[in-house]
Amino acid sequence: MQGHRICQREKNKMMCLRCGQCCKKLLAVVVIDPDLGIVESNLETVGITGEPCRHLRGNEPGDYSCAVHEYPWYKETPCYRFTQIEKSNSYCRTGLFTLGRHVPVD
Ligand code: SF4
Ligand code: SF4
Repeated sequence: MQGHRICQREKNKMMCLRCGQCCKKLLAVVVIDPDLGIVESNLETVGITGEPCRHLRGNEPGDYSCAVHEYPWYKETPCYRFTQIEKSNSYCRTGLFTLGRHVPVD
């Protein structure tokens, strides 16, 4: 199943709880300048230096958002294709853990 980070809920998608952890800690390739989009010279990795992604907005777990989520190229990124193993809509396990919620997962 596919899902994506810092997202609105969509049918058959992993449901992001906006905890921000994957945008701080998970290795991913992201664009630098949103207006240039996906070209090799405009890419960088997040999750190596310990610094949050430059596009992460918000101040507390549960309320983070992504500043580039609405760009047309976003669906081609690893962030959009972030996955987990559940077979139907379910909350992100990392988000549940981070927020201390104990909702059963599929
Ligand atoms: S581009 Fe958006 S979803 Fe991807 S790591 Fe950065 S803030 Fe998170
Ligand atoms: S770890 Fe999960 S809940 Fe937290 S921001 Fe990433 S996708 Fe959303």
